[in-house]
Amino acid sequence: MWQASIFTLYPDMFPGPLGTSLSGEALKRGTWSLEAHQIREHGLGRHRAVDDTPAGGGPGMVIRADVLAASLDAGLPADDPRPRLLMSPRGRPLTQERVRALAAGPGVAIVCGRFEGVDERVIAGRGLEEVSIGDYVLSGGEIASMVLLDACVRLLPGVMGKEASGSEESFEGGLLEYPHYTRPREWEGREIPEVLLSGDHARIARWRREQAERLTAERRPDLLPRD
Ligand code: SAH
Repeated sequence: MWQASIFTLYPDMFPGPLGTSLSGEALKRGTWSLEAHQIREHGLGRHRAVDDTPAGGGPGMVIRADVLAASLDAGLPADDPRPRLLMSPRGRPLTQERVRALAAGPGVAIVCGRFEGVDERVIAGRGLEEVSIGDYVLSGGEIASMVLLDACVRLLPGVMGKEASGSEESFEGGLLEYPHYTRPREWEGREIPEVLLSGDHARIARWRREQAERLTAERRPDLLPRD
């Protein structure tokens, strides 16, 4: 079973949307498991404080290293083989390649930041790897972690069903995906491209390849190999 352990101040957010549709069914079937640990259980004092003011001044609050480390140490055995990720806008951007590698492994442990983030020392002290889901700032790591989990879980064996879905998708061949059409054949005066109705599989494959290359060149030239 592919195992996800989440360290968060908002465990009630899980499984959230991951409890429905493909990921929810796979969760019920036991294809993957999800555990959400409340960091605050290791908070300090009567108020179970988890954060404090930033050293050096400035706005906001920072999650304490000692509190987060205590939560991780209680929730993860020292020899747990799963990568320990910290959702962070400063991290390496998540890619489909990385998602594939994570889905092929034993699972993930994920720390969700809040406020200004976490004390830098716990990142090194507990070997956390920072992962970003894009160049924008969210208010917390929970939704970012769900994005990562959703992308991984749909690749687990049996989750997407028998179709070859996955192998022809955007990014998989280094290209964006070709356009899709379905019935009706004509809609508001727009036709399905004739080639797709031709039954000529070689021609269809060629057309799809050309479309994928055209879309990628137009929208994401950064994905094309540089000669
Ligand atoms: N002060 C931080 C942002 C904190 S946002 C900075 O400028 O880098 C609060 C939390 O939301 C972060 O700790 C992280 O866990 C999460 N988060 C925000 N944006 C994210 C992104 N693009 N990818 C992944 N996690 C993100």
